[in-house]
Amino acid sequence: MSYVKSFQVDPDRAVNLSKIDPDYTGPHENKAEALPEIEHYAQRLRELQYRLYAEHRRSLLICLQAMDAGGKDGTIRHVLGYMNPQSCRVQPFKVPTAEEAAHDFLWRTHKATPGRGEVAIFNRSHYEDVLVVRVHKLVPKEIWSARYEAINRFEHHLVGNGTQILKFFLHISKEEQLRRFRRRLEDPARQWKISEADYRERAYWDDYQAAYEDALNRCSTKNAPWYVIPANHKWFRNLAISKIVVQLLEGLDMNFPEPQVDIEALRQKYFSDG
Ligand code: AMP
Ligand code: MG
Repeated sequence: MSYVKSFQVDPDRAVNLSKIDPDYTGPHENKAEALPEIEHYAQRLRELQYRLYAEHRRSLLICLQAMDAGGKDGTIRHVLGYMNPQSCRVQPFKVPTAEEAAHDFLWRTHKATPGRGEVAIFNRSHYEDVLVVRVHKLVPKEIWSARYEAINRFEHHLVGNGTQILKFFLHISKEEQLRRFRRRLEDPARQWKISEADYRERAYWDDYQAAYEDALNRCSTKNAPWYVIPANHKWFRNLAISKIVVQLLEGLDMNFPEPQVDIEALRQKYFSDG
């Protein structure tokens, strides 16, 4: 089945998050049964990223957005775990520094975009400027509401310059978030991740979902689509994302550059005795 088709936010149709089941696992019963497929796409990811690097023509930008405990870190570990760190980068987006806040909101984003041959994964992204900023009224509505269009123009510009853009919203339920918070409380190896602010943000859950729906609806474009990934099951989330990234990269029809030397001449010159 095509996860691209199933999970892509159609630019011409309104997405309603409450209608998308975060528990969905497609044709798979459980992780054990999906493992061969997970492994297959992970290996393909490795091969294709190597081609992207060798080709040095285009770049890949992956934006990850989710509610707290939505699985951004785990997704990065999985997807990046198969890539060559030489040409991959993770860029986190935190509360803007004084210098960042003194610039337009896309300034820090543009600096972090991938160069030719590179992959950049955004852990949060420029979309925070129409999410947390909107929910907490950090700027007036006239300002944030003009940003959707600015984002579309910016992404269009990147696409025109050879950057492939994939944007994933990891969709978890409010109950699943609480389960994950509880696991953090009970697991000494995860307690460091706990912030009380995350619990306070739960009060704004509906506002966030509404802000996400607007961002998905207004900024899913043909060349820079949004995907809503059912993410209550971590293994399915990883599988769906690697499959979508693989499908995009396969569609690029990437080739290794022509050798810059005469292969036959070198063979003759240095190995003719064999
Ligand atoms: P974390 O990703 O958990 O390390 O947290 C980063 C925090 O930075 C989150 O609470 C984000 O909402 C916040 N953040 C990211 N970008 C912005 C922004 N442009 N304006 C305000 N807060 C932001
Ligand atoms: Mg956090």
